[in-house]
Amino acid sequence: MTVNKDFFEPSRAFNYDFQSSGASAEAWDEAARAGERLVPTHCSFCGVQCGMNLRVKDGKVIGVEPRNYPHNRGSLCPKGVVAYQQADHPERLLYPMIRRNGALQRASWDEALDLVVKRWTEIQEEYGRDAVAIYSGSSMTNEKCYLMGKFARVALRTRNVDYNGRLCMSSAAGAYERAFGLDRAPLPMTDIPLANAILVVGSNVAECFPVAMQWIWRARDRGAKLIVVDPRETPAARTADLWLPVRPGGDVALLNAMLRVIIDDGLVDEQYIRDRTNGWDDVRDAANEMSLDEAERASGVPKARIVAAARMYGSAATSLVMHARGIEHSTHGVDNCLACINLALARGQMGKPGGGAMMLTGQGNGQGGREMGQKAAQLPGYRHIDKLEDRQYIASVWGVPEEELPGPGAAATEMVHLMAEREIKSCMVMCSNLMVSLPDNAVVQRALDALDPLVVVDFFMSETAARADILLPCAVWCEDEGTTTNLEGRVIKLNKAAEPPGEARRDWEIACDIARRLGRGKFFEYRTPRDIWDELRVATKGGTADYSGITYEKIDAQSGVFWPCPSEDSPGTPRLFTDRFNHPDGRARMIPVHYRPPAETPSGDFPFYLTSGRVVYQYLSGTQTRRLGFLNSQAPEPWVEIHPRAAERLGITSEEIVRVRTPRGSMELKALVTPTIRPDTLFIPFHYGTRHAVNQITNSAVEPKVKIPEYKCCAATVEKTSAPIPERPGKATENLTPESAPAMFPYQRGEVAAPAPGSGSH
Ligand code: SF4
Repeated sequence: MTVNKDFFEPSRAFNYDFQSSGASAEAWDEAARAGERLVPTHCSFCGVQCGMNLRVKDGKVIGVEPRNYPHNRGSLCPKGVVAYQQADHPERLLYPMIRRNGALQRASWDEALDLVVKRWTEIQEEYGRDAVAIYSGSSMTNEKCYLMGKFARVALRTRNVDYNGRLCMSSAAGAYERAFGLDRAPLPMTDIPLANAILVVGSNVAECFPVAMQWIWRARDRGAKLIVVDPRETPAARTADLWLPVRPGGDVALLNAMLRVIIDDGLVDEQYIRDRTNGWDDVRDAANEMSLDEAERASGVPKARIVAAARMYGSAATSLVMHARGIEHSTHGVDNCLACINLALARGQMGKPGGGAMMLTGQGNGQGGREMGQKAAQLPGYRHIDKLEDRQYIASVWGVPEEELPGPGAAATEMVHLMAEREIKSCMVMCSNLMVSLPDNAVVQRALDALDPLVVVDFFMSETAARADILLPCAVWCEDEGTTTNLEGRVIKLNKAAEPPGEARRDWEIACDIARRLGRGKFFEYRTPRDIWDELRVATKGGTADYSGITYEKIDAQSGVFWPCPSEDSPGTPRLFTDRFNHPDGRARMIPVHYRPPAETPSGDFPFYLTSGRVVYQYLSGTQTRRLGFLNSQAPEPWVEIHPRAAERLGITSEEIVRVRTPRGSMELKALVTPTIRPDTLFIPFHYGTRHAVNQITNSAVEPKVKIPEYKCCAATVEKTSAPIPERPGKATENLTPESAPAMFPYQRGEVAAPAPGSGSH
């Protein structure tokens, strides 16, 4: 079969070849015959970043083909197959708008950007530089994430820049940095089938990362055991060898109890602990703090099941812990991740092919977005803004005096309160939908409405964009090029398939234009994303997340490059920690964690736990997927899951509209009565806006170190809509007593036979 290369996408960056596309020769021939071309790129949605080829005809993206990339091997999930429909969607924002007399009205780019610059200049002169803030995003390319950090520090010279990854990855990032000195999943997905036991903790992996789930199935096919820890019997839990239905917030109690069993059974890798870690004695003491009976009461998981899981996990020759937002969206999120890491270190698994612990990053560029310097206290390459040598290096790359760089600013969750208190007077929100994604969103609404102006850059009219004073339309992912870093740490390349519609512009062009109008244009003289990329490579050189050896060409030639990649000769680093960790002494830190209850627990007025999460057909705040017909028709509105015993007691049936209340307010939605949830727990998917947003009623309590909200646990009640609403919502009172806790979960399945210590090794 001969391949006609003439219809390849001509790129400013490099010429594609047949190998890089992964498409079959037949597909290329068929596309050519139809007058189409195929543009190799990646999905816009989750952190897996599946490879895909977009079909382009007459300048429009008209379809998609899976691309045979190493981590998706030609697979796409339901979101991936319709992602392309965003490009030519009739609801795209086409021109800038300014709010006049209460309504958003069409404006020219000059009018809109001049107004932004005029107001920001006035505000900063009167209230100081930090009165203007940037709320950035992690679905953007590395180039744009890098640019937004620089834009805040150099164009605006404000300390207040943070991003929506604060709501997503900050617990895992905090834990991995502390334990290993480096925050990245330590192994590629292709390693997963090497595991003999996989412990999935707080991840609805089959729905949130369907293509990553396929790697778990491959491990199962080879005989691996699967253990799932989740308050819901998720699709993955349904096919697991063991499901541990943990009570929301009970994770540390459960994971420490598993470690206790591993210690008691002599399954700890003493040699590894001696050779490669510090802190084991304190971790061992913390694991022994609670008896198994106490752990059962705190976690809600029967003791026999904890023992069975510990032996199944602890006796496997190679074992992998995979965790996600279920444990990370917690006021103890960092501790929950550290508890997973302690298990992996105690078993001597970190650095082993197929072994260890790995976080499942949610957003498309959730990994790269947290390395590029748009976090409140961070500079590019995971450098620290409060470290003099880091500041000096980045200042030299940017060509500004070190003293001009501001210090650390407010976290995204803190920024909202500064807006409500009018300390931050204006904010530019980049492709983020705070009105859906932040907790207790009555406060968010007050905060956004207090801004003057609220500037929003987005491509659809989100619930947040609808409140903007100045709305700037931007490109979607396939209308620009650049890189992202997927959940493995693999840097990949997105390619441009079409031009933005109407007057929409690429985000980086908008930021550079504003910088010019602010008189800081000489620091932002980029003509292409490659110009930004080349500067980014220099800025990350020598940092923890070192991208300096990664070129667009190398990404194509190697099907992605794993950072750190400190030179052009380096192939990158797919597996981390094989012989040393990233702390100066090369050893991992084992950090003791202690069980503490969540910030809010059930009581008389609010007898249930409320937890929230994703469904396969929607993505994050739903701004994109709620507009894609096939996806939205499958899950057009939220529902509340209730266990049949709770539903029977309350006289609630499936499909009935019920009211869910928490101390912050109430919402009405359909009931789904299902035995796949704990009887003491309610679940609502979070992808929906306005009166359907679960974040109207979630708790805004945050983890003290990394400021991630406790989305996964608050006190709630559910009732028929005919029930009167109390004049003032009652208050969640005391924690459940250990004695009452088992009664909240009268577990009815047969107990699991615990394998004998040492058995079940592969
Ligand atoms: Fe896109 Fe993630 Fe689905 Fe892959 S698994 S197609 S990256 S949403």
